[in-house]
Amino acid sequence: MKQKPVNSSRMPIYRDAGFELYDADTTKDAFQKETENERIPELYIYSRYRNPTVVAAEDEIMSLEGCRWALLTQSGMSAIDTALSVFQQGRETGPWLFFSEIYGGTISYTEYVLRKRRGIDARIFEPANERYDLSAFENQLEAAKPDVVYIEAISNPMLIVTDLEKVIGLSHKAGAKVIVDNTFATPALCRPLNLGADIVVHSATKYFSGHGNITAGVVCGNDSHLMKACIEYRKFVGHMLSPDDAYRLTTQLKTFSLRFSRQCSNAAGLAGLFRDHPSIRKVWYPGLPEHPTHAEAVKLFGDNGWGGMVTLDFAGTTPEEKKKNRDGFIEKVSGAISLIPSLGDPKTIIMPVESVWGAKYPEPGMIRLSVGFEDYARLEKIVLDGLK
Ligand code: PLP
Repeated sequence: MKQKPVNSSRMPIYRDAGFELYDADTTKDAFQKETENERIPELYIYSRYRNPTVVAAEDEIMSLEGCRWALLTQSGMSAIDTALSVFQQGRETGPWLFFSEIYGGTISYTEYVLRKRRGIDARIFEPANERYDLSAFENQLEAAKPDVVYIEAISNPMLIVTDLEKVIGLSHKAGAKVIVDNTFATPALCRPLNLGADIVVHSATKYFSGHGNITAGVVCGNDSHLMKACIEYRKFVGHMLSPDDAYRLTTQLKTFSLRFSRQCSNAAGLAGLFRDHPSIRKVWYPGLPEHPTHAEAVKLFGDNGWGGMVTLDFAGTTPEEKKKNRDGFIEKVSGAISLIPSLGDPKTIIMPVESVWGAKYPEPGMIRLSVGFEDYARLEKIVLDGLK
């Protein structure tokens, strides 16, 4: 029984695992064309390869990131795995260079997957005094001659912003491709592909889906060869997003700009409040003039905003006192601000830095806030009451 398409204004959820291919010749043709790895096939074959509901969500992200292609995956980590793996060339693979202040899961991936299992020479470039020294980076590029450089537009948890244009220019000059994780900055603050990045990845679990209820990732780019390589990898490894999640993501993406601009203004408000509060020793927020990379943030973001993440350190004369002040705050705000290990949620959420990063950031008074899009006056009151 064939029906005409329904006049819906949105792409429905196509839950087909496999699509109907009618007859042997059409099937042969579809499988032959499949080897071309186009983003939108003439005939859909199998949802692990491509799915129309997923393609509709990708279109939405392409217009946000201003890029020629976007490919959704079932997590941010699978997007990162896809972006990196297309540069792996068996024994020919050269070193890959990772800026050190990246998501802890990505660091674990470099250790447990890249080095330990795949034997890749994954190297780390460290910051000095809470900023990356780009002449030291140039030296490391010269010494390592990496195939790939990997960086986050805003680092985690110190919110270091780097001159991406320079990083990309220096990397390309040294023959390396550049992957930027733009999860924290989002395309509302910067579009690294316009600065020449080869691939941008996002954990769409965060600001893109924005409600803490979808796990997804996306790989974005402009180069069609890289797109085909990413499509092929996603298909054969099975990193494809489900149509149900893609449908919900499309809906939630419609409010991305509204949500994120409120998250940025709420975060800027709280950053100023914390800076002027006697209970707080130090605040890290790229919008504050005293942030070590404020100048880079001004260059990269212009007047788009400074992001929704704020990191701070509670005052205290001893580590025990700092820990007590941190724990007191977490407890006092707990009715309204939860401790959730994620970011980009509707409500403000907390992560205690030392509990997560351990020896890397051992300060017991530090917390990282992912600021939500609550009403600011209400949020400010909750925070001020928590600081009493
Ligand atoms: N990139 C960044 C900056 C992240 O913060 C995260 C997760 O927190 C990821 C990637 C991984 O994303 P996911 O948890 O969706 O796999």
